[in-house]
Amino acid sequence: PPPSKLTHIEAIEALRQFLRERSSYDVFPVSFRLIVLDVQLRVKKALDVMLLYGVVSAPLWNTEMAKFAGMFTVQDVIHLIQYYYHTSSWEAAPADVEAIRLASIREIEKMLQVPPPPLLSVHPLRPLYDACRFLIRTHARRLPLIDIDGQTQGEVVISVLTQYRVLKFIAMNCREITQFLTGGVQELGIGTYVQSPEDGNVFAPLATATLQTTVFDVVHMFSEKGISAVPIVDDNGKVVDLYETVDVITLVRNGAYQALDLTIAQALKQRSHDFSGVVTCSPKDSLSAVFSLIRIRRVHRLVVVAGPDDPQPGRLVGVISLSDIMRELIGRDVEPGGSGIGAEPVDRAL
Ligand code: ADP
Repeated sequence: PPPSKLTHIEAIEALRQFLRERSSYDVFPVSFRLIVLDVQLRVKKALDVMLLYGVVSAPLWNTEMAKFAGMFTVQDVIHLIQYYYHTSSWEAAPADVEAIRLASIREIEKMLQVPPPPLLSVHPLRPLYDACRFLIRTHARRLPLIDIDGQTQGEVVISVLTQYRVLKFIAMNCREITQFLTGGVQELGIGTYVQSPEDGNVFAPLATATLQTTVFDVVHMFSEKGISAVPIVDDNGKVVDLYETVDVITLVRNGAYQALDLTIAQALKQRSHDFSGVVTCSPKDSLSAVFSLIRIRRVHRLVVVAGPDDPQPGRLVGVISLSDIMRELIGRDVEPGGSGIGAEPVDRAL
């Protein structure tokens, strides 16, 4: 029977219990498509395939070793762009990217001294709760599910678990629990919020841009801060849009690395038609309301804006990423890349 009243802590515990009683398999539909990329593929081909199938990441497969070889994500593309900006001539970059193979990206990432690629994976039958704890530890924000074939003993990539899928699954199936999450998001400390002015940046610690900022400067913010979206604000601090790492893929795919010199205003004109819009909420909205949004919309992050009762309605207040929500559910004690879980996940080499 559905509980009649739960406190925040009790509701969180009930959600954890729900996740303990499910496995990653429960999150997926009976039939689904999986795109796996061979590490010998050229980056250009990989981007074309991803675009064709509308995916923004894919597991890599090393055919020679018959092994899972990590994830290829938008973040990798951001790193490639940075690399070419520093080393290659601007004109040669597109040709170089056509030629480079996925296997070589790891080398580039080493040179750039960016965090090592996420190689975490989990067995699809492990409790979903454990998978979620792995999920918030990996900066890929996605976790490949890998099984072992009973006959060949070889690895089999089953699917990829994302934060989005898990939160959608909870939003769809746990309404009778999430309704009790009535605390306001800012009060609960979920997300990153504007603090007192610092170094003249009135939005600190948030990274923001204006319509006049160049795409390249925003790409730099993505890579330096390890974030996947930057709110676009006007002169009055009002949120006018959001620029995301996936938007960069559209630009790069069009072959125009020079497009990085475009302003955000120009780049937004090229945004793909299926952009689902910026999802906003107010700092006083409850976590329950956020789950309602996740239930009905394709939410990848929320921009927190001041409500109508604020002296400056629409003013940027904060950003709530899916990882911020996951952390609230699963535990803030989980360090990215740190331990804190019983069994260590398997680390694989390319
Ligand atoms: P996710 O981890 O869900 O993919 P992000 O990479 O965007 O989402 O966010 C990672 C962390 O950085 C989160 O804690 C989030 O609150 C914070 N964050 C997100 N966007 C910004 C931004 N523009 N400036 C500063 N911090 C941000």
